[in-house]
Formats: sequence, C-alpha cells, structure tokens
Amino acid sequence: LSTNTYDDGALEDAKNFRNDPTTPVKQNATLLMLVRNWEVQGALQSMRSLEDRFNKEYNYDWTFLNDVPFDKVFIEATTAMASGKTNYAVIPKEDWDCPEWIDQKRFNQSLQLMQEENIVYGNSRSYRNMCKFNSGYFFRQKVLDNYDYYFRVEPNVEYFCDFPYDPFKIMKEKNKKYGFVIAIYEYEDTIPTLWESVEEFIDIKGDELGLDLDNSAYDFITDFEIYGSNKFLIDSNTNYNLCHFWSNFEVGDLNFYRSNRYIEFFEFLNEKGGFYYERWGDAPIHTLAASILLHRDEIIHFDEIGYEHAPFRTCPRSYFMRLSQRCQCDYSGENNVDIEFNSCLSRWWKNGSGKKFVKEL
Ligand code: GDP
Ligand code: MN
Repeated sequence: LSTNTYDDGALEDAKNFRNDPTTPVKQNATLLMLVRNWEVQGALQSMRSLEDRFNKEYNYDWTFLNDVPFDKVFIEATTAMASGKTNYAVIPKEDWDCPEWIDQKRFNQSLQLMQEENIVYGNSRSYRNMCKFNSGYFFRQKVLDNYDYYFRVEPNVEYFCDFPYDPFKIMKEKNKKYGFVIAIYEYEDTIPTLWESVEEFIDIKGDELGLDLDNSAYDFITDFEIYGSNKFLIDSNTNYNLCHFWSNFEVGDLNFYRSNRYIEFFEFLNEKGGFYYERWGDAPIHTLAASILLHRDEIIHFDEIGYEHAPFRTCPRSYFMRLSQRCQCDYSGENNVDIEFNSCLSRWWKNGSGKKFVKEL
C-alpha cells in the first residue's frame, strides 16, 4: 500500500482498501458521555458523527452519566440516534459534590481569585466537581461495572474520518491501557501545586506500588528540551512540562482506573484539596497517572483518527489514510494542532512511544 504523502496510486489503493470486507468482533466496551440535559443537541451531533464514522458497524452500547436525572427528551433522542443499547445513570451525590472536609472559606477565595485572573472556568464550582468526578469516580459508577473499556465522548465534537479499525480491539489485542489523539500544554495557573503533590506521591508510594519510572512515559511529561517557539510555554516554575493528553477524547481500560495503583494515586491527590483550592483538570490527572503508573508501551496515540473538540482538531498524517477513510480534514496548517507550537505530540514521538527506538539507535 502507498502510505507516503501524495504517492501515485494512493487513491486507487484507498478505494480498494475500503472494499476489504471485515467482520466486526465486539469487545466488552461502551461509549461514554457525561452530559447535561440542555446539551442534548450537542450530544446528538457527536453521536451522529461517531455512529457514522465508526459505531454503525459495531453497535457498541452508549452510556450516559449525569449529576441530575436525564429528562425524557434527552433519553428518547439519544436512544433514537444510537445504533447500540443505551444506559442512563445518575451519579450519587457523594461522587459529585464538594466534600464536606473542603474548607469553604479557602474554596471561595480560590473561586474569586481565579475569576479575577480570568482563568478558564476559574470561578465555576460545577466544573471542579466535573473534573474531580472524571478523575476519580466515573469508573466506579455501577453502570460501568460490567465493561472493560470506555471511549469518552463529549457533546459538540466531530470525527473527521471513517475509523480504519476498532480502537477497543487495538487496546485489547495490543494490551493498551490508555489511548489519545491530541496532546497539548495545560494552563499552569490551574495546577500550581499538582506536580509537587505527584512528586510527593512518587516519594512516599513509589516503591510500595512498584512504580517503574524508567519504563514509563515519565520523560514525556518532564522533557525539558526546547524547540524554537515552544520556549515560552515551559518558562515555568515546575518540572512538569504541562503536557497532557486532551481527555475529551480518550479510550481507556477501566481496570487500570480500578487498580490499587490508580486509586491510591487519586486518593492521595484528592486529599490535597487541589480539585477545589486550585482547579486541577482530569486531563493532567489522567496524563500524570498514565505516565507514571503505566509502561510507556501501554499508552497509544491513535494517529488515524480525525477529531475536533473546539478549538483544536487533528487529522491523520498519512495521505493514503485520509483518502481511504474519507477524511474531511486537512493535515496542514491551522487545521491540525499536531504540528503547531502548542502541541505536545512531537514530545510524544520523541520521548513517549519513540523513546525506545531512539535508544536502540
Ligand atoms: P471543556 O471541554 O473543558 O470546555 O468542558 P465541558 O463544558 O465540555 O465539560 C466537559 C464534559 O463534562 C462535557 O461532556 C460536559 O457535558 C460535562 N459536564 C460539565 N459540567 C457538567 C455538569 O455540571 N453536569 C453534567 N452532567 N455534565 C457536565
Ligand atoms: Mn468539552
């Protein structure tokens, strides 16, 4: 097959490739959306796109989570849109609300300060609940008990290409625990003390939990080499380079989150109060967890999936793939964050998956 950009014959190959008949084998997995009733149109938009580009061939279940009950309109419209079975679950208050031990005075001061500093969602209480929930509680919901894998979907996202494979199958067969498409830099002001807390966790718990940082993706999150215009991004007072997998898209192994390692990691951080006193996002939490608790080979970058969650999009690198998968996206220019200054993907290529290769040379 031609895989190089603008290869002669790529179009013909692409069309033949599409005609290759495959029999879908379903994994024990669900598409998963945390969403509010009023976001129903955005939810439908995302569903239509993912159904069209992937799920209509597989009919995976959809699971919807909400901190309040879903209304009839939401349930009927999303069930009508789904090719698979649909589950709807309400999140227990203790998994969502601000815990009682959080100092309300300190919390209120943080909300006010972050609003004054114009930090995105800086003054939002519910956003903090959401980030804490997505960090430490989504995988404990009863409705997910019988699944092994989840694929996170958000309202108002789009998938630009037909999926060339079932990402769940890749996860299973290649023993992957965490899959992503976009990696970018976090706003440092939302996580001023996160990294020092993670370092403390490694010091206190690392040996007991048998962490193997040498074979983890630790270098991906701490690489200090500077390339051109990236410079200002790591003018930082932390050793964490702020790279994170953009968690609005993720495919993950639920058993990783259910593991003693992950639970200990989450509880340790949760006790610091940073989900409320600062505004720790679930993306850096998942990223730091995956990068220190997993073997680097257990993390996968899905290069063949085209995706957009405003304001960023990603498009497959291979010209052949873009044809064969009927992509509606462009690899070059502003239409693709992967090769822009604010993407961490080059660090992933160098220090994540590519590291072993570089070492072998
Ligand atoms: P952003 O992507 O960081 O701008 O944040 P979003 O507003 O998209 O929120 C992330 C995800 O959590 C989306 O799937 C939202 O629908 C969901 N979400 C955010 N806040 C709430 C909430 O208060 N209740 C529920 N049920 N879902 C929420
Ligand atoms: Mn979003």
